Amino acid sequence: MVSVKQEHSPKRAARADSLPPVTEDCIFCRIVAGELPSETVQEDEHTIAFMDLNPWTRGHALVIPRRHSRNLYEVADEDLGHAAAAARRLAETMRDRLACDGVNLLNCCEAAAWQTVFHFHVHVIPRYTDDPLHLPVHPRRAEPGELATVAAEIRG
Ligand code: AMP
Ligand code: ZN
Repeated sequence: MVSVKQEHSPKRAARADSLPPVTEDCIFCRIVAGELPSETVQEDEHTIAFMDLNPWTRGHALVIPRRHSRNLYEVADEDLGHAAAAARRLAETMRDRLACDGVNLLNCCEAAAWQTVFHFHVHVIPRYTDDPLHLPVHPRRAEPGELATVAAEIRG
């Protein structure tokens, strides 16, 4: 059972019509509600973006829909679209203002995929030539038949 919080903040109350109740233990809902601090860099009616507390590179930010959902499996299509559009806008802003050389978008869905905060979000990670990020995986050549087998599983 998900417990809910009373509508305290004026910012939150102003949007009460369009948003579900804040999930009490969700830190990103609390940022949306103005109950926790954030370095917000971009916002619109549907999304906000703020600096990640533990940046992978200079300028690493998170875009979240204002409306709570657990992750990619559960986010509404419209919020997914709003978040994607907001992430691209932010990437362009980073290109222009931080002079980054590229951007990675990252989404983590469930703990096995590194999700630690269970409010859907997109990492917007500015990249710089020679920055210290390296692929965390070592891609290998597919075994004979492997791709066809797994593709058939996915197609069903
Ligand atoms: P993920 O592992 O994909 O769920 O990403 C969660 C991200 O949220 C991590 O990179 C954290 O550093 C970041 N984070 C956690 N709490 C906060 C916070 N209060 N403000 C900003 N970023 C946060
Ligand atoms: Zn939330």
